[in-house]
Amino acid sequence: MGAATPRLIIFYVIISINIMLEDLARLGKDFKWEKPSICPCCENSKLWGHGFVKCYFNGFSHSLWLKRYRCPSCNSVITVKPSGYWSRFKSSVQTIYNTLSYRFLNKKWPLSISRQRAGNWMRAFIKNIKMLIYDRFGSEPFKILQICFEKNINFLSSK
Ligand SMILES: [Zn+2]
Repeated sequence: MGAATPRLIIFYVIISINIMLEDLARLGKDFKWEKPSICPCCENSKLWGHGFVKCYFNGFSHSLWLKRYRCPSCNSVITVKPSGYWSRFKSSVQTIYNTLSYRFLNKKWPLSISRQRAGNWMRAFIKNIKMLIYDRFGSEPFKILQICFEKNINFLSSK
């Protein structure tokens, strides 16, 4: 074995911005991203372009390209994604909230959404409130869902 190479620790950061997914789908890599003014980790103001990553969103048949930046100062990789979406979830927060609310109010799933996907959201939600906020907000799941949505708290995942 040769000499140990120093390990480079890279932080992956996601920044949410308000954009129209339709514009992103239409323009692809030509979409004009607004570069973040500073690195969210070290506040360095010079960020470099760092290619694109593919991301799937519900309602679009093909993947969309999200822009990435790299901070030369702290090596963070910054991905810019549309606000209103959580990482790892392809549906918008609004859609997830509407679906779960519908289920609580009507005791059945809306027809517009895959029951399997909706079931996954509900399981994640119930697991998450049991772990995190059950005590803080009382015991009624629908009320917890509403409070989280109003306060912009991720109700499906604690991370
Ligand atoms: Zn940085």
